[in-house]
Amino acid sequence: MPDEPILEDRRILELRYRMPILQIREFFTGLEEGKVRGTKCRDCGKIYFPPQSECSSCMTKNMEWIDFGGDATLETFTTVEVAPTSFAAEGKYVVAVGKLDEGINVLSWLNLNGTKDIKIGMKMKLKSLRKKEGYYSYEFFQE
Ligand SMILES: [Zn+2]
Repeated sequence: MPDEPILEDRRILELRYRMPILQIREFFTGLEEGKVRGTKCRDCGKIYFPPQSECSSCMTKNMEWIDFGGDATLETFTTVEVAPTSFAAEGKYVVAVGKLDEGINVLSWLNLNGTKDIKIGMKMKLKSLRKKEGYYSYEFFQE
């Protein structure tokens, strides 16, 4: 009996976030206005990024939006030489974890335009930007 034929799926796997639009509109409006925003618990002061609509510490929905100043310090990074299919057009890129002056860690791409040596502890700015595909996102930039 011959081997069973195999159907190879050539579709590109896309990962989409599913979040209530009313709760994240502030975030995307902020990016369009050049601001990166998170949420802060009015009860305990805990800051969330990506923004959350509930505080996991006190289980409250008593949250407010805050604009980050953008100042950050590089905690760690990795260079991706062989990109996954969805980022194949990007070539080499760097994913970094930066600690914002507000005290939280943010995972984001490190923009390589104008970047010289990448060193742990270097100062960076978290900024919004419009990607060439037309949507708004945020990245770290070397200072
Ligand atoms: Zn809280």
